[in-house]
Amino acid sequence: TYDVLVVGGGPAGAAAAVYSARKGIRTGVVAERFGGQVQDTMAIENFISIKETEGPKLAAALEEHVKSYDVDVMDTQRAARLVPAKDGQPFAVELESGATLTAKSVIISTGARWRQVGVPGEDEYRNRGVAYCPHCDGPLFKGKHVAVIGGGNSGVEAAIDLAGIVGKVTLFEFADTLRADAVLQRKLHSLPNVTVITEAQTTEITGDGQKVNGLSYTERATGESKHVALEGVFVQIGLVPNSGWLKDTLELTPQGEIVIDNRGQTSIPGVFAAGDVTTVPYKQIVIALGEGAKASLASFDYLIRQGSE
Ligand code: FAD
Repeated sequence: TYDVLVVGGGPAGAAAAVYSARKGIRTGVVAERFGGQVQDTMAIENFISIKETEGPKLAAALEEHVKSYDVDVMDTQRAARLVPAKDGQPFAVELESGATLTAKSVIISTGARWRQVGVPGEDEYRNRGVAYCPHCDGPLFKGKHVAVIGGGNSGVEAAIDLAGIVGKVTLFEFADTLRADAVLQRKLHSLPNVTVITEAQTTEITGDGQKVNGLSYTERATGESKHVALEGVFVQIGLVPNSGWLKDTLELTPQGEIVIDNRGQTSIPGVFAAGDVTTVPYKQIVIALGEGAKASLASFDYLIRQGSE
């Protein structure tokens, strides 16, 4: 039985594992893919103190740091179910492989994934013009023309944010109106370098074989196909938390984020959560690292109050 079992091996899970191991308590990390979303990232320029790095490099550094401590790292394992502690029994985390791990406290850091539009060109040009995070990749498109797909709050916020950095923004929305808050829409419409196209169904992200060179869409009112030449596409149609396996166990928001308090405590005492899978706003590496550290310290506080070593 672990004192702390961390589920998820992205930045939040790595930080939680290091902080727990440094308390000298029995720590395990179970992760489907160590490094998490960081593995899918090319240039990282906002990990403060390292001016520029690459995702796989940072992921390897996270893993090396965790493995320099006495931590059981169980990679390529997916958690399928959390069984709450009761009658003096520890928590149990059942894995898809059929194995069960037990722990006195659990830190969940299973992250999230960006919802994809699912059109030709999206995968091919990922990191070569197709982006999902305006805070991360906005500055790479300085002065250029970019598209934002999605007219909800995140799409409109992204368009406003990008309009200050890039040359021109065209926002594409499938429905006939934007769904963002009125105050954001007013701000958006006040910007001179933003165009909004509603009733637009994106059909393809086009490229020259090297990088993105445009976006094709169907004008839903007329059925006409159109193409806009541009250099980048920000997909903003939602971030999906990897919390499906926790349904009916923990309190989640309607969007599936794990509800936590300011110490990372979930609705079950002894179960903590950190990073992109939680209600913590702004999904970023530096934030996930801090949240993982916080959840670890909170779990340690919990454990010493349970009288465990
Ligand atoms: P994740 O990184 O999502 O890690 C989740 C972990 O949980 C993984 O190990 C995963 O395999 C595991 N997992 C999931 N489900 C299960 C399960 N059921 N059982 C076991 N394990 C499971 N942020 C920045 O700050 N700067 C950037 O430049 C930047 N660029 C980005 C570019 C891209 C393309 C993407 C996708 C994201 C980018 N981000 C960037 C965001 C950043 O990567 C995330 O905010 C951060 O990785 C979140 O960390 P996390 O530990 O909460 O979750």
